[in-house]
Amino acid sequence: MTEHQLLLRLQQLDKQSAVLEEQRQRNGLSAYEGRESRLREELQAKSARCEQLERELAHGQAELAGLEQEIVSLQRELTRASGYDIALVQNRLTPALARKGTLEEELLQVMLELEELPAQLPPLREGLAEVQAELEEARPEEQERLEDLNLRLQMYAQERLMVVEQLPPTLVVGYQKTGRIDEIRQGRCRCRLEIPDHYQRQIRLGHGWVCASCGSVLVQTLTP
Ligand SMILES: [Zn+2]
Repeated sequence: MTEHQLLLRLQQLDKQSAVLEEQRQRNGLSAYEGRESRLREELQAKSARCEQLERELAHGQAELAGLEQEIVSLQRELTRASGYDIALVQNRLTPALARKGTLEEELLQVMLELEELPAQLPPLREGLAEVQAELEEARPEEQERLEDLNLRLQMYAQERLMVVEQLPPTLVVGYQKTGRIDEIRQGRCRCRLEIPDHYQRQIRLGHGWVCASCGSVLVQTLTP
C-alpha cells in the first residue's frame, strides 16, 4: 500500500470508529429505564401519601372520639350549672364544638382522598412490573449489541495500529493534528500554498506530504 492509500484507510478507520463509538455511547435501554424510574417514583410517592393519610385518619378519629366525650360531659355539666358557672362551661364548650367542626371537615377530605388513591396503586404496580420485564428482556439484546460494537472497534483499532506503523511519523502526527487529508490541485494546497516540484513528484508517486502552511496532509487524489 502506498502512503496515499494508507492515509485514506487511516481516515476511513477513524470515521467508522467514531460512528461506532457514538452508537456505543447511546444507551439502548434508556427508554425503558426512564419509564421504569418514572413509574417507580410515582408508586413510591402515592404509597407514601396513602400511609400518611391513614395515619392522619387514625390520629384524627382518635382526637374526634376524645372531643365527642368531652362535649357530652360539658353539655351534661351545662344542664347542671347555674349562674356564673354557665359562662365558664360555655367557654370550654364553644371551642370544643368549633374544633369538632374543623376536625370533621379535615377527616372528610382525608377520607375522600383515601377513597381514590389506593385504587391507583395496583395499575401502577402492574405497569412497573411490565416495564421491568421488558427491561430484563431487552438487556441481553443490548449486551449483544455492545459486545458486537466493542469487537468491531477492537478490530478497527488493531488495523489502525498496523496502518500507523507503516506510515512515516511526520505524516501520522500531521494527520492527527488536523484530521484533514486533501488532494493536491494544480500544484497547490487548499490554502493556496504552492507545493515545491520535488514534493509534487513525491505526491504523484503515492507519498503524502504535510502542508507547511495549513497542516493539511496532501495526497494525489482522494479517490481510493
Ligand atoms: Zn495548506
